[in-house]
Amino acid sequence: MNQAAGGKSVWSRRALLRNLIVLTGAGVSSSLLKYGAGGIPEILGQAGAARGGRGAAAARGTRLIMLGTQGGPNVNLMRAETSNVVVADGQPYLVDCGYGAVRGLVEAGIPLPSVQNVFLTHLHDDHTVDLAALLSLKWTGGNNVPQPVAVYGPYGTKAMVDGAIAFFKANADIRIVDEGRSVRPEAVFAGHDLTAATVTEVFRDERVTVKAVENAHFPDRAKEKMPYRSFAYRFDTPDRSIVFSGDTPYSASLVELARGADYFVCEAMTLGSRQQFAGNAGGANGGGESIGRHVLETHSSTEDVGRMATEAKVKTVVLYHLVPGANRGNATDDIYISEVRKTFDGPVIVGRDQLRIPQD
Ligand SMILES: [Zn+2]
Ligand SMILES: [Zn+2]
Repeated sequence: MNQAAGGKSVWSRRALLRNLIVLTGAGVSSSLLKYGAGGIPEILGQAGAARGGRGAAAARGTRLIMLGTQGGPNVNLMRAETSNVVVADGQPYLVDCGYGAVRGLVEAGIPLPSVQNVFLTHLHDDHTVDLAALLSLKWTGGNNVPQPVAVYGPYGTKAMVDGAIAFFKANADIRIVDEGRSVRPEAVFAGHDLTAATVTEVFRDERVTVKAVENAHFPDRAKEKMPYRSFAYRFDTPDRSIVFSGDTPYSASLVELARGADYFVCEAMTLGSRQQFAGNAGGANGGGESIGRHVLETHSSTEDVGRMATEAKVKTVVLYHLVPGANRGNATDDIYISEVRKTFDGPVIVGRDQLRIPQD
């Protein structure tokens, strides 16, 4: 059903458009001609990009844009939490949505209304916490015709999306009454629980094919006690293949998924950082011991990254989910690179927020 066809909503929309033109002048009206019926959100998105962003992604071909490269639940002002976008022929596919992802999209020049497919590697909050903000802002910014969004991920993703919608129910109820909106969030936003015990195609459209597989982030003893799982993803387009490790230690399934990929985007922890966590694991504090053990068992050292890259024969390694990341101490880019190159001969790129691969 085309919600814009309703009399009152069309009037409100036209009034809003008219006001926008009055307020901002001829630039907006030419944008309206360009963007047509879905104009308001696109205009607002483009305006935001023009103020602080990098401009829209390339119209043709495939590009990786890193939005957040900090490893773990660590809010800081240098790196956002984990999030990446694959842009294929101008269409964004968001992979994880940690804190800072929404601002990162704006900075990258990607209008929020254009984000219609989201893939979650797993449901730790450093990969998901901006999802409620993203959906709420998309619904509110989407005027009467918010674009649909499908969120894909392991078990619990559907419940998380339902919870995000519950989070902004009051906002939706108020605006439905007060602004004459007619599309409820649950009509356009949906979560989908995937299973991928072995390499499995989970999504396909005219631009990309997406495969997933369970990685090794959650140890077997944890999986016995819970239904939650953790994925790696592979995006194949006509011109590129990009693999995201998600969070994981060495994983034979990830090696299989990544075979021959152009870009192996892999989480990485320096050897020095691992030694620090090993120290915590042996410490007197019970909580510290558990967290230290968790970090060591469930994440990849730089040497693990190189080993998987070599076994999978990938062309280029891109490091993300960096630990220590912002709290880098002596962990310069050269340290990450030299440690990976102990076990991998090819090119290594240390990720940073807003890095575009390839560059403009
Ligand atoms: Zn993480
Ligand atoms: Zn995690």
